[in-house]
Amino acid sequence: MAAEKTESNGNGAHAGRRWQFVRIWPGEYLSPAEEGLVLVGTLKKAQDIGKSVALLNRVQPLPALRHLKRVRHVGESLGQKRTAEIIVSRAAADHSVDQEVPTHLVLTASEESPLLELLQPALIVRRVSLTRPLTQQHVTASQRLWPTITPNPLVCLDTHGLPAAEEAVLGDFLELLTEEDGEGGRTCAGNSVIIADGRSAHCSLIRGAKSVPASPLDHPVLHALGMMAASQRQSVKKEKAALPAEEGDAGSYLCTGLTAVLAREPCIMCAMALVHGRIGRIVFRQAGAGDGGVLSVYKLQALKQLNHRFTVFHAQPRPS
Ligand SMILES: [Zn+2]
Repeated sequence: MAAEKTESNGNGAHAGRRWQFVRIWPGEYLSPAEEGLVLVGTLKKAQDIGKSVALLNRVQPLPALRHLKRVRHVGESLGQKRTAEIIVSRAAADHSVDQEVPTHLVLTASEESPLLELLQPALIVRRVSLTRPLTQQHVTASQRLWPTITPNPLVCLDTHGLPAAEEAVLGDFLELLTEEDGEGGRTCAGNSVIIADGRSAHCSLIRGAKSVPASPLDHPVLHALGMMAASQRQSVKKEKAALPAEEGDAGSYLCTGLTAVLAREPCIMCAMALVHGRIGRIVFRQAGAGDGGVLSVYKLQALKQLNHRFTVFHAQPRPS
C-alpha cells in the first residue's frame, strides 16, 4: 500500500468536466410517500376548532401523523358556510374513501363523548399521506391530499447536485485514481482513496495493494483514516498546549466536512469506518460487487440507527 502527497492544478482546464456525479439517495427519499385512510369529522361550528383539537390531541393522539395539520377549513371557496374538517382517527382496514361512518360508533369512550356535541353525526373517510415528507416532491404529493406541515430542511431531488467548482476538483481527483489502475475489477482491498476538502487542490492519495492483503483489515480506506488520525493527533497536541483545558478537550471529529474520493465503492467495513470518521461525503467511481456499503449491497447513509449521515455520489463518465 502506498501513500503519496499529490496536488491537482485547479486551474480550470479540468478533466473533471468529463464526470457526472449521480447522488445515491437513501430509498426513503426516492419512494413515493405512503398513503392511507383516516376518519374525518366536520365541526358544527368553526369557532370550536381550538376546543376540538385540544380534546382530540388528548383522547386520540396521532403521533405518526404529526406531519399533517389536524384541521382544514372547508366551505369558503364554495360560498358555503365556513366550517372545518378535523382528523379524528385512523380508518379501519375495510373502510374506503368517501365512506360515511356514524360518529357515535367511533367515539365510544367516555372521555371522547364531549366531541359528539361538537361534530356532525357522520365521519367521512379521507385519504392522507402517512409518511413524514423528506423531499419537496413528498410535500407536494401530501398537500394534494391534506394540509401538511413542512418540515425543515427538505430536499429537492432534482437540484441537489454538487457545485460546479467542486465537481471540477473532485473530477481531477478521480482522474488521478483511475489513470494508473484502470476502471474495473477492483476489490476494496485494492481500492485507491483520496481524503480531501472538495474545494481545495491538496489531498493525500492512498493506493491499495494489488496482491492479496496480509490482513482482512488491510484496506486503503482504513489506512487513510489511520493516517488522518495520526496527523490530527500531532496538530491537536500542539494546539492543545495553547488552549484552555476545556476547549482543548472538546476536539473535532476526524473527517468532519471532508470528502473521500474512491476508485471503488467502499466495502461495508470501510463505509462503517467512514461513518465513525464523520466523513462528510463519499464519491466513488466503480460500484462494488457483493460487498458495497453505500450502493450495491447496503446504503449505510440510509440507516436510521447511525448517528452520522454522509452524502454519496457515484461518479460516471459524462456522455460525449
Ligand atoms: Zn474496504
